[in-house]
Amino acid sequence: MVKVVKFGGSSLADAAQFQKVGDIIRADEARCFVIPSAPGKRFSGDTKVTDLLYRCYHLAEEGKDFSDPFAEIKSRYKEIIDGLHLSVSLDEEFDKIEKSLKTDPRADYTASRGENLNGHLMAAYLGFDFVDPFDVIFFNEEGTLDEEKTKYCMSIMLAEHPKAVIPGFYGQGADGRVKTFSRGGSDITGSIVAGAVHADVYENWTDVSGCLAADPRVVPNPVPVKVITYKELRELSYMGASVLHEDAIFPVRKEGIPINIRNTNKPEDEGTWIVESTCQKTGYTITGIAGKKDFCAVLISKDMMNSEVGFCRKVLQAFEENGISIEHMPSGIDTMTVVVHESEFMDKEQRVVSAIHRLAEPDSIEIEADLSLIAVVGRGMKSQRGTAGRIFAALAHAHVNVRMIDQGSSELNIIIGVENRDFEKAIQAIYDIFVVTQI
Ligand code: ASP
Repeated sequence: MVKVVKFGGSSLADAAQFQKVGDIIRADEARCFVIPSAPGKRFSGDTKVTDLLYRCYHLAEEGKDFSDPFAEIKSRYKEIIDGLHLSVSLDEEFDKIEKSLKTDPRADYTASRGENLNGHLMAAYLGFDFVDPFDVIFFNEEGTLDEEKTKYCMSIMLAEHPKAVIPGFYGQGADGRVKTFSRGGSDITGSIVAGAVHADVYENWTDVSGCLAADPRVVPNPVPVKVITYKELRELSYMGASVLHEDAIFPVRKEGIPINIRNTNKPEDEGTWIVESTCQKTGYTITGIAGKKDFCAVLISKDMMNSEVGFCRKVLQAFEENGISIEHMPSGIDTMTVVVHESEFMDKEQRVVSAIHRLAEPDSIEIEADLSLIAVVGRGMKSQRGTAGRIFAALAHAHVNVRMIDQGSSELNIIIGVENRDFEKAIQAIYDIFVVTQI
């Protein structure tokens, strides 16, 4: 049994957290490959080391003094070294970082040092080998992961280091320099390592006991989700549920490796299992609810639209020409609606409107802003009668006006558009009907 274990920033924020992590790793021989993040927040209002590093970089770039945040970073690591009684010195590493900031500041290199230094400390603390992702994770010219080369080099390297710490968040760009993933990218590193070593499980340790059925900022104390499929998670993450970095699913999904989200502060909790497929029932008809605010609906009308071949293509071309991606596209006989992100659309709206007129010659175009989209997700929905009916009855009782409905063809989700001001009320109403009352 081989487990790849990734620990997020809050799990490694100080020496006390490192000790919890050490106990977790030592409790199971199978936990062979460890992916640390940079030290995160110790309390609300604290600053992540990654953010301090970016601050140093920005100051250095502007030729300003970065000694304050730099000293803060040093003291974060010193607390960990002292607290764990490690006989490791990071002085040389800090000299290198300082020199690079003074002579040739680079955002990716600077930010990556948070994970790199934490990796050195973790390897020393556990007595594991240190494997630098710079030597085993490669990006191609387009800046995306070079999967083949990475997998090949990673598996060869890790075969020689059966117990290793591989810092998260970065690798080597096509230009031979350090390149990071987007924020939260240590999740991706963990997934790549799990895929490369054909791990039995990818454990992702964080500060919550897995996924919750709704956002706790909207619904107080939502129930935890025991098992969720990759597809369900993708639907929920896309709609704002932040459990795992979006791109972290693909490398393990390809290999059929389950992900187990665990809580470093409550290791006894089983957390959430993210799997390809399962016969385990969800307990409730729905697995989860998530949503996002601030979408815009562009309503295009034209008489006899239904019989005009190529109308949709022409409309979509107008969005494509302006580089705007489309979220949803419900349509009627003489109307079609294109739902887009307000922030992407706002500056380009008049250009899009004129492009639609030029390309598709509609009768009218109306734009409606302040729309929220809510995804009700559940693998159990397709075999259950009346799910949509219950959602809409609940929303009607809560006096929420439904502006748009879209059921994905997978029957895994129902997307509902409501006004921004009804967003919280709508989520609470749907949660109540499926989870609280369970009628
Ligand atoms: N430390 C990086 C961040 O704060 C990457 C990570 O934690 O996954 O985004």
